[in-house]
Amino acid sequence: SAKEGGRGRHAMFEEPLDARLHERGALLADLRQAVARRELLLHYQPRVAAADSRIRSAEALVRWQHPGRGLVPPGVFIPLAEESDLIESIGSWVLDEACRQLALWRRQGRVLERLSVNVSPRQLQSGRLVEEVEAALLRHGVPWRQLELEVTESLLVGDARQASAQLAELRQRGVLIALDDFGTGYSSLATLRDLPIDVMKVDRAFVRDLGADASAQAITRAILTLAQSLGKHSVAEGIEGEAQAAALRQLGCDELQGYLFGRPMPAAEFEQRLPHVSAAVAPVMD
Ligand code: C2E
Ligand code: MG
Ligand code: MG
Ligand code: MG
Repeated sequence: SAKEGGRGRHAMFEEPLDARLHERGALLADLRQAVARRELLLHYQPRVAAADSRIRSAEALVRWQHPGRGLVPPGVFIPLAEESDLIESIGSWVLDEACRQLALWRRQGRVLERLSVNVSPRQLQSGRLVEEVEAALLRHGVPWRQLELEVTESLLVGDARQASAQLAELRQRGVLIALDDFGTGYSSLATLRDLPIDVMKVDRAFVRDLGADASAQAITRAILTLAQSLGKHSVAEGIEGEAQAAALRQLGCDELQGYLFGRPMPAAEFEQRLPHVSAAVAPVMD
């Protein structure tokens, strides 16, 4: 969340300004090469059905394997990419890689209902998201309904009508649209009315305090009730403990995501956890 981001950045503010600017510039210069140098990769975090704890879907989360700095988390380089034009090429790479991996798992008979991919407001502002998604799905032979896109209400800061028209078109083709980090933005209820969405993701800020804080519990209950009344699918993120999972099940949340069920992990590790159907059965999955 923004609050945590601010806390995390405190250490940086203690450095002299020119050192920070130099550091930023160096990172940005490296980031410009990252796609071409194949330094980006996706990790996959399981999302389980609340009813039976089986893996239903996964969220693809980008990482940057920097040659000198090791694995750089998206919280560090996505904001940089968003301030430059880099987010468009990174976003395209993420979409293509997610579809490539999905297609591979399908061919291997590994069962995953959906994969969700985070999309930046800038990708919607480019006006090319629909064609990019279509191209990636076609290139790899993935059906529209296997893809979910996670957006945040910050996309409404720009051209809201253009953004929601694109989401509506994607949704009409079968892509699911999820509203990420729900409850932490500035206009959650207006967003719900204005954006064509299928899924609401309850932010970790509320999940974290479930059981410890009565207001977190009340807000979570209200969000899940709202999701049910609006006919939206609900997902809670950031679940680390059994008590939180139990509370969310009791409140009627549909899908659960968090370290309790698995951290974001490399594809090779994630696929070990997917159910497998025999090659003879696999083609019927369509
Ligand atoms: P997000 O989309 O809200 O993703 C959830 C974040 O919460 C992930 O952090 C995930 O590792 C973390 N998380 C999941 N379960 C738990 C838990 O139980 N406890 C804790 N403490 N954390 C948990 P990550 O991977 O560092 O990503 C951070 C943010 O970076 C994402 O937040 C998303 O906004 C952005 N991001 C990640 N990948 C992409 C991408 O491919 N494109 C774009 N545009 N943004 C991305
Ligand atoms: Mg997300
Ligand atoms: Mg989130
Ligand atoms: Mg977030």
